[in-house]
Amino acid sequence: MNKKTNRRKFIQQVGMATLGTIALSQIKPVSAFANSLDGEVLFTLDALPYEFKALEPHIDALTMEIHHDRHHRAYVDNLNKLCAKEGIQEKSIEVILSKVGSYSAGVKNNAGGHYNHSLFWKMMKANGGGLPTGAANDAINASFGTFDQFKTKFIEASKSRFGSGWAWLVAKDGKLNIGSTANQENPLMDISELKGTPVLCLDVWEHAYYLKYQNKRADYIDAWFNTINWDTVNAQLKLAK
Ligand code: MN
Repeated sequence: MNKKTNRRKFIQQVGMATLGTIALSQIKPVSAFANSLDGEVLFTLDALPYEFKALEPHIDALTMEIHHDRHHRAYVDNLNKLCAKEGIQEKSIEVILSKVGSYSAGVKNNAGGHYNHSLFWKMMKANGGGLPTGAANDAINASFGTFDQFKTKFIEASKSRFGSGWAWLVAKDGKLNIGSTANQENPLMDISELKGTPVLCLDVWEHAYYLKYQNKRADYIDAWFNTINWDTVNAQLKLAK
């Protein structure tokens, strides 16, 4: 292709991208990674286990699409690039997290971002929410008294995390604890103050809610409770044992 053709194509593409009427789903997410790296692809982005619109009205489809296809994809692509650059061949994300303090800040941010989002998507489902089921119900009542008392504490942890981060329910030594982490840190990281097996997690970065809720993080947290997939919580509890 000559220079002129390239230029024309570029203008066409830019023109397309600036058309606000094109649905995001019609624009293929750009993965710079695939073309720019000779190294092995260690980590991949799984499709969401439901449609983008599945969590409406609590979480809107456009937020889900941007959050998964752009934010999560960027963590995966960057993690793969950094692993190639830093000679990391470890294929288990959990192992990387467990010794993340010995890697670069970039690996910490992107490995955390990949793990946290992979888990977060599974923590939600269409027509979710309600009271916990099975072992989750028993464990929450045993640790916090009632579901409402658990919910109050979890909301407090979610609201009080300053800036970007995550709220967590973790299991450790047969007990449940609630806490939060900054940025993309998580309770599996060696550098984390909060430790344990993640049982439930909530993304409180603004990108998770700003399109629909703007600065009203509390409203997003309230609505998110209607999306919880207690089956995943129970699966994580099993994992913790
Ligand atoms: Mn996020």
